[in-house]
Amino acid sequence: MKDKARVSLLLAWAVLGLVGLGMGQQVPRPKLRVVATLPVLADLARQVGGDHVQVVSLGKGQEDPHYVTPTPSLMQAVRRADLFIEVGMSLEMWAVNVLDGAGNKRVRRESKGHVYASEGIPVLEVPVSMTRAKGDLHPNGNPHLWVDPVRLGLMARNIEKGMERVRPSEARWFQEGYVAFQKRLDLAIYGPELVKLLGGKVLNRLALSGKLQSFLKRKYKGKPLSARLGGFLKLAAPLRGRKILFYHQNWIYFSTRFGLEVRGFVEDKPGITPSASHKLKLMEQIKAEKIKVLGTATWNDDSVPNALARETGIQVVPLPAMVGATKDAPDSISMIRALITRLLNGYSKG
Ligand SMILES: [Zn+2]
Repeated sequence: MKDKARVSLLLAWAVLGLVGLGMGQQVPRPKLRVVATLPVLADLARQVGGDHVQVVSLGKGQEDPHYVTPTPSLMQAVRRADLFIEVGMSLEMWAVNVLDGAGNKRVRRESKGHVYASEGIPVLEVPVSMTRAKGDLHPNGNPHLWVDPVRLGLMARNIEKGMERVRPSEARWFQEGYVAFQKRLDLAIYGPELVKLLGGKVLNRLALSGKLQSFLKRKYKGKPLSARLGGFLKLAAPLRGRKILFYHQNWIYFSTRFGLEVRGFVEDKPGITPSASHKLKLMEQIKAEKIKVLGTATWNDDSVPNALARETGIQVVPLPAMVGATKDAPDSISMIRALITRLLNGYSKG
């Protein structure tokens, strides 16, 4: 009896509380609960959604994005999520198990609360043959889009659209969040002078079509536009034309953006550990072509790269291929800066 009385008292308070809120202030909407497969997507979601979103990432910065095992508590987060974000393109083959296991209809693939961050983004290395070679991890083209800062913006846009879809009442907030992020990104890529002169949209379009470098040779007020270039593209200019080896094929968007000449990979094929003969071939190639730097992701097995370094003197440069992989890559824009800086250091030693 006593308990019952207490319950009704609590109820009365609750009702009074709601009425009070209704008269005075707005009832705050709960934050949009976002689950991302990878830290880079979680970062983009935070950049766009600000304090209207609560974001968790299933994968960690030091984990290979192809192979993530989410913990039960993360599965629980998917169960309650309003929005689920993955790259797609068969990168996170493990994500379908998470979505099935969580049984949250609102965020299932093809539903309103699900986002493929790669949607509509131009992709490279699409296989010509339809047969999926055994062990090949990239059957739909290269999914490692986020190491290109220009594509980071396109991914953020896709995420913004997803947020708008599930919370139309906060559309304006998400749009403004995206626009602010895109502006920070444009300034970081091209520097303030070119952004002011041409605008981020034009620059990004030129960059994506591969015409930016030739366009920047044009003269404006007596000097080539390239003289006004700042940001990552200026910082990374010494990398242009340098030969490099990588461990896994997750750098094509980075090397294309900054003009590195990729001469080969430690893996025989994406996801396939190098054979002894492949290792030997690489050793000869490094010596013959005088390749100075081998870039690895922090989660790659370093035994073969280290053996190559001992034999040839090549500099092995561990790179943050994911937000949070290293201390100098806490968010997506600093990740790009860290990649460039680490490679520049590698060549200065090599
Ligand atoms: Zn891959």
